[in-house]
Amino acid sequence: MPARNRDGHRKRSLAVFPGSFDPITNGHLDIIGRGLSVFDQVTIAILVNPEKHPLFTVEERVDLIREAFRGEDRVQVDTFSGLLVDYAERVGASVIVRGLRAISDFEYEFQMGLMNRRLNPRIETVFMMPAESYSYLSSRLVKEVFQLGGPVRDLVPAAVERRLREKYGTSAPQPVARRRARTRRA
Ligand code: ADP
Repeated sequence: MPARNRDGHRKRSLAVFPGSFDPITNGHLDIIGRGLSVFDQVTIAILVNPEKHPLFTVEERVDLIREAFRGEDRVQVDTFSGLLVDYAERVGASVIVRGLRAISDFEYEFQMGLMNRRLNPRIETVFMMPAESYSYLSSRLVKEVFQLGGPVRDLVPAAVERRLREKYGTSAPQPVARRRARTRRA
């Protein structure tokens, strides 16, 4: 039976989707879309970790996510530090959503999921699989490909591609081989 508020209305289900989102990719969007088909609301929670050296500041990442979900009021963006289960409890979420791309994700995610359950058994972790075409996609790979001059158009929202161009200049750096060929022709 669905959980109900004191006034008898069905409680809205809220899931937290935590991560670095440096930057958000179409793989993340895929998982969030799947989350929305199961839960009433999804809060994208950016982990603020001073130990990491992200490409995009937290504010930039929040803006890029807001832009990707403009007009979708079932998706919120927030930031958190400290224990994820404490954050989830604080915002009233009973579920943590994580994406599982491949077997390689499994071991780490399984450990984290079990540790979070131990820390707070009231919060359930739900794993979701993206479309197969995104199963190789990661924020790290997008940054690497872009820096080496490769196209990322189909891998990230348009706003992310724009911000990558701004970060690295008007266009992505040319790969060395192409740069040399052009010099030779000139
Ligand atoms: P983290 O630093 O926690 O790995 P990420 O921003 O890389 O944060 O990822 C956040 C969540 O999104 C994780 O659950 C990760 O498995 C999932 N995720 C990232 N890329 C994809 C993808 N291409 N398909 C499905 N899930 C993904």
